[in-house]
Parts: sequence; structure tokens; C-alpha cells
Amino acid sequence: MSRRERGNSHRAVESTAIECKQEPGLFVPVIDRNRCEGKADCVEVCPYEVFVVTTLPVEQRTGLSFLGRLKGRAHGWQQALTPNAEACHACGLCVKACPESAITLARA
Ligand code: SF4
Repeated sequence: MSRRERGNSHRAVESTAIECKQEPGLFVPVIDRNRCEGKADCVEVCPYEVFVVTTLPVEQRTGLSFLGRLKGRAHGWQQALTPNAEACHACGLCVKACPESAITLARA
């Protein structure tokens, strides 16, 4: 099973919930589309299944820098999306884990 598949599969929230102290809905992760390379570290570490790595929709590719477009093509447009952003507890694990420093937390 690949790292992405493992990350996308159901995991026990209890194991890392102690590190997440905020109520859900106060903060959301924001992904820098010019930096994300779809490596899925965020998928793996998030205890609340906020992320998936999938093909970035075409409408979200507008406004990318030249380097961002090159990186997107090089990685088959695989990037992290946040379909479950409202579940974020602002623990910061994804921010620390992202090898591209592509994730920040912002007030919802
Ligand atoms: S800060 Fe990141 S790892 Fe923590 S709950 Fe929010 S999205 Fe998940």
C-alpha cells in the first residue's frame, strides 16, 4: 500500500487527537498552489482526514506562477486538496510535515 493510499484510508483519530487543542472550524489549512507537489505528507499526518491528494481541477490552476505551472505539469497536477477543511483542529502537524512548506493555517 502506498503512502497516499495509507493516508487516504481511515485512521484512528484518538492516536494524535491530544495534539489538537482548537475546536474545529476556527482555522483552515491553506495550500500554496505554487509549492504543493502532492507528496501527501499532510494526508498521512492529519488526524482528521482533512486532505486528499488528487488531480488539481483546471479552474484552480489559473494564476499560478511560471514555476508553479512547471511543477504542476511535472507532478501530473497531483496536489493536496482539503475536502474536509471544517474538521481542522489547528494542530499544525501538516504545516510541520509538508516538505515544500506549502501549508499555512488561516482563520476560517
Ligand atoms: S492543522 Fe493540519 S494536521 Fe492538524 S487538524 Fe488541521 S489540517 Fe489536520
